[in-house]
Amino acid sequence: MYFPAQGDYIDIHVHGGTPAPGIFILESLMAHEGKLPDDKPGVLYTYGIHPWFLNEDNQKQFISSVEDVATLPGIIAIGEAGFDKLKGPSIDLQRNVFEKQVIISEKLGMPVVIHCVRAWEELLSVQKKLKPKMPWLVHGFRGNVELALQLLFKGMYLSFWFDFVLRPESGNLLRQIPADRIFLETDGADVDIRTIYGKVANDLDMTVDGLKSLILKNFNKCLIG
Ligand SMILES: [Zn+2]
Repeated sequence: MYFPAQGDYIDIHVHGGTPAPGIFILESLMAHEGKLPDDKPGVLYTYGIHPWFLNEDNQKQFISSVEDVATLPGIIAIGEAGFDKLKGPSIDLQRNVFEKQVIISEKLGMPVVIHCVRAWEELLSVQKKLKPKMPWLVHGFRGNVELALQLLFKGMYLSFWFDFVLRPESGNLLRQIPADRIFLETDGADVDIRTIYGKVANDLDMTVDGLKSLILKNFNKCLIG
């Protein structure tokens, strides 16, 4: 297994990306894809059940694949998993399968990378019920300061949706939240992680090198533990 090094740009949420020199990616493998982790420099993986691709018929098979695949070398977190009110099966099924993945993450001592669209109450109620000890990292965050602070107060980490974080007005939010809980991502979109770091470093009045060290520290704390 290869881990990110000082000076790397860390892209915390990627689908199907290829690592480039100086860029370390955390690739999100989804149970329905049937893809397994590779042992190559510049990449580590998460494995989980994305709510969009879940249904009554595949849930059992997907859960047992998470139990198996998550133990392979290279997988360092469960996910992306969570809730989506705009796309996917019933919220009851989403909750059931999310809870099962949280239980696996606790058993394996792994954090959870979360996909959550318009279902913050559901997410928080699972946290309240299961009281997980492992960190939760919400990816693709695009909410307001109040919501960000609420999630951070509950101990979560946040990675921002690239389109949101590239907007000038997101600087205000970034300056109001603790920087020791943030991550940045491309989500596999056609955007350069270096551009995102440049914009955020500028918002936080830091150098890009300073931001790289900060996010590496966050990575080691949240994902390596
Ligand atoms: Zn994703």
